[in-house]
Amino acid sequence: MKGKSSIPFLDLVSPHIEIEQELTQVFKHALHTASFIGGSMVEEFERAFAEFCGTKHSVGVGSGTDALRFALTAAGVKAGDIVITVAHTFIATTEAISQAGAEPRFVDIDERTYNMDAAKVREYLENSCTIDGRLGLVIENKSGKQVTAIIPVHLYGQMADMDQLLELAEQYKLILIEDACQAHGAQYFSKRENCWRMAGSMGRAAAFSFYPGKNLGACGEAGAVTTNDEVLAQKCRMLRDHGQAKKYYHAMEGYNGRLDSIQAGILTVKLGHLNEWNRRRQEAAQRYDEMLSAIEGVIKPHCPEWARAVYHLYVIRVQNREALQKGLGEAQIGTGIHYPVPLHLQKAYENLGYQRGDFPITERIAAEIVSLPMFPQLQAEHQNRVVEEVLHSLGSGMTAENVGARRD
Ligand SMILES: *Cc1c(COP(=O)(O)O)cnc(C)c1O
Repeated sequence: MKGKSSIPFLDLVSPHIEIEQELTQVFKHALHTASFIGGSMVEEFERAFAEFCGTKHSVGVGSGTDALRFALTAAGVKAGDIVITVAHTFIATTEAISQAGAEPRFVDIDERTYNMDAAKVREYLENSCTIDGRLGLVIENKSGKQVTAIIPVHLYGQMADMDQLLELAEQYKLILIEDACQAHGAQYFSKRENCWRMAGSMGRAAAFSFYPGKNLGACGEAGAVTTNDEVLAQKCRMLRDHGQAKKYYHAMEGYNGRLDSIQAGILTVKLGHLNEWNRRRQEAAQRYDEMLSAIEGVIKPHCPEWARAVYHLYVIRVQNREALQKGLGEAQIGTGIHYPVPLHLQKAYENLGYQRGDFPITERIAAEIVSLPMFPQLQAEHQNRVVEEVLHSLGSGMTAENVGARRD
């Protein structure tokens, strides 16, 4: 047996050691100037991140959840509205909808990309809603409530099929907010515009999370809203700071949702490495793709020609997930499931009245997915071992030599 060190699902130590000097400089600067909230480090990061995403504005906030909630409210989503999203996502997507006063409605996902299926959105709008002729409002038949927004999630680091979703949003006058919390640097080829577009630059606004494990992660909690809309950006700046544009003059009630200066400084440093880190993730994904092609019963991630994914996660599908996770676990290889229980089947959403069977693709995929180790510092030899153990656990009878042979 080769060296049997453990392979973590995610290594958060190595990337910080690589740039330790740069990061400690940020701490020192903050300590020496006592700049902890707001100030030049926040503004500098906001400028740099907006430039990275190709948007006019970025507004630093306390988390990705804050970013989603502020973006929805600032875009005009109000109490009693309905917001369309997917059940195959992290609960923060729908928490933000509820906390903005609205109610989530789910549609099923695309079987190959695991992202929002535009055809299902159209089906919901055509079959479950009526257009109020006079004002052109979209009213959901069963509740009589108004549908005002749609949140596609760019899951696992790959963008949803935005052309189709934007067309629907335009046709039905819906606000489109991107949940780009897993997609820093992901790209989409827009046929409508005949060019590549960055995640976070296509909707009315987008939400990013800088939770430590994301492709761009802070050393704590952080998030940002990106947008080209100056008014929306200004509203987000007020929402994050108790509804004030000027100290102690409150135009509305807001939140305590600011971005810490130290986190902003750290994010500026790490943003300088993001393209390189994403490139290393893409190379690792390609190595997995090649090796896993030889293994029967493993469905690899599907990346359409219109997508450039940044592999926040590398997710495969298998029939016998329990055996695979057990086998990899015994071999000291970390795995994850993102996510095991679709939101429409969570206890928290019992009140929405959904049932098992409502979203068959979401439910099937939730039962079959496994996330393999994926991070920029992941080594090829570690991946060889991961794939060997996948093979072993699935008992497909092929050897690692076969896998190697099938690579050319
Ligand atoms: C991480 C994440 C969020 C929430 O971000 P936080 O910074 O943890 O609040 C929202 N949506 C998705 C898809 C995420 O992965």
